[in-house]
Amino acid sequence: MAFLELDVLNNDNKAILGIDLGTTNSMVALFRDGRPQVLALEGWADARIPSALFFDEDGTVAVGREARAKAVDEPGASMLSIKRFMGCGLADCENDLSNVPFKASESENGVVAFDIRGRRFTPQQLSARILKHIWDVASDALLEPAPLRAVITVPAYFDDAQRQATRDAARIAGLDVARIVNEPTAASLAYGLDRKKEGTVAVYDLGGGTFDVSILTIEEGVFRVLATAGNTHLGGDDLDRVLVGLALNEIAEQLDEGVKRDPAFLQGVRLAAERTKIELSQKPSAELAVVAPQLGLNWRREVTRPQFEELAQPWIDRTLDACRQALLDAKLKTKDIDEVVLVGGSTRIPAVRLQVESFFGRKPKSELNPDEIVALGAAVQGHVLAGGTREVLLLDVTPLSLGIETVGGAVAKVIQRNSAIPLQATEGFTTYAENQTGIDFHVVQGEREMAKDCRTLGRFKLIGIPPMAAGMAKVAVHFSIDANGILTVTAVENSTSTKASIEVQPMHGLTDDEVEVMLEESFAHARSDFDESRLVNLKVEISTMVRATEKNLHFVADQLDRETRDEIQDAVTAAKKAREGQDFAATQAARDGLEQATLPLAALLMDSVAKAALAGKKLDSF
Ligand code: ADP
Ligand code: MG
Repeated sequence: MAFLELDVLNNDNKAILGIDLGTTNSMVALFRDGRPQVLALEGWADARIPSALFFDEDGTVAVGREARAKAVDEPGASMLSIKRFMGCGLADCENDLSNVPFKASESENGVVAFDIRGRRFTPQQLSARILKHIWDVASDALLEPAPLRAVITVPAYFDDAQRQATRDAARIAGLDVARIVNEPTAASLAYGLDRKKEGTVAVYDLGGGTFDVSILTIEEGVFRVLATAGNTHLGGDDLDRVLVGLALNEIAEQLDEGVKRDPAFLQGVRLAAERTKIELSQKPSAELAVVAPQLGLNWRREVTRPQFEELAQPWIDRTLDACRQALLDAKLKTKDIDEVVLVGGSTRIPAVRLQVESFFGRKPKSELNPDEIVALGAAVQGHVLAGGTREVLLLDVTPLSLGIETVGGAVAKVIQRNSAIPLQATEGFTTYAENQTGIDFHVVQGEREMAKDCRTLGRFKLIGIPPMAAGMAKVAVHFSIDANGILTVTAVENSTSTKASIEVQPMHGLTDDEVEVMLEESFAHARSDFDESRLVNLKVEISTMVRATEKNLHFVADQLDRETRDEIQDAVTAAKKAREGQDFAATQAARDGLEQATLPLAALLMDSVAKAALAGKKLDSF
């Protein structure tokens, strides 16, 4: 595949911030003095900015460290992990809502929204608060207003809706997004892997709320993401929950039902569980404590590392499954991987490091702080976009195939899953009915053969096609995915250049579980889907042939002998009958029979058309 040339947007040397907008923690960095540097306030032990919000009774909102601290005492007024809700509809994120102490509803445009202290907030708005705070931290650290342009990272698995929601959040915060970059790509940049002449990198990112693994190649300093797999609903939070489960099990008898469901109580237990988990990364055993004097509760127990590892193993296994899938998609084996990069706080867990190492058969890179890598890489990318010297090109991939529904409900795939982006692709379509002046386009995402089994990304209509015979109009449907992963679909009718397009901003996002389910389903159904779609296409073809035959037979009926006419008539009847059934072979035979029987008719028509054309008559009078 040809590399696209990097379009360095602005050559004004204005600096661009790099922001890792994390589920649990965010971080900001800037390229200064020839290298990327994280920005933190004096007195901070590290540069992590909790992606947390706290809503005070008086209407003030605390963000970051302050919010995280207040959340411990008053979890009922705090919002954590807002990233999980970015670009999601209510139904997409039902499971996560149990961790949110606020009432959720769905806004008119299908986006989830939270009622917080009498006000309504979308995830974009809440995320914007965090971004604004990040910018404030950067400005305080720099002792001057920080740049308003930023590169913001998202998990590689984020779909169009989630990326778009991230851009919207930045806009609300008053930031200008120079580019949305995938986190693993940023991580590779942070390690300067772009300087290698060639090589293959696996980036394993296990954070608080998301997991993804990406396989990238470097050729002449140019990155290409070969494949990506993962799950935006898998991370350190799950390991906290495992320990929460352990605690709740043991104290179940001491708790009444109300308390067990009380979000404030649960969040307290969650934070305690996280502390225990983090301690277990350093020590062979740690204490897990649930202390709530108001409930007369003072429960403690020792958790050993092996005990924790046993509970964590199913989650680690799922990450390794995703590694396997990514390698499969990239058509590579573990021995082909030259570098393994660990990203995310949860890769500090010794069992995770060891198992990733043994899976890939090589020691992961670990010189950089796994919390800082993504922000540092974002700053490097910002530097490049600002006209800096490192020549880097970023290409990412589409997690699912994209296509258009055709007549009968089959999907014509225009872009294959795991294609590198940005990219463009064009497919030709035609009209199905006589004098059809409009076409409805249904843009779908997914691996299944039938549109009804895929996810709708959007619909639009191309109108103003001049009346023509069925199949005469030539419509080019152009898919274009920009560097931020935003899809634009344009349809153009050739003869008149009539045009219609949509920028696909689906109502709400696709969760990774959905992506996984869709992929699994597509494998499970591959055979039957294929047959179903072939049958549908065949039936559509038959319908078109029957209609054309019946119409044209009438024009030249007197020029055909009786026997031929009867043969055609019989073939039409047989084809119509086959069209009602489900037998592929029989339908195929009926179609072939019809084609055979109508050959004399076709010959006559060709003649007539030629004569008509010579006589100056218009073709479409037939
Ligand atoms: P995200 O990118 O999702 O915001 P981070 O990369 O900041 O997440 O990772 C946060 C997660 O890492 C949390 O679940 C946190 O508990 C976990 N974590 C941080 N430090 C450690 C540690 N030393 N051992 C185990 N888990 C850790
Ligand atoms: Mg992260």
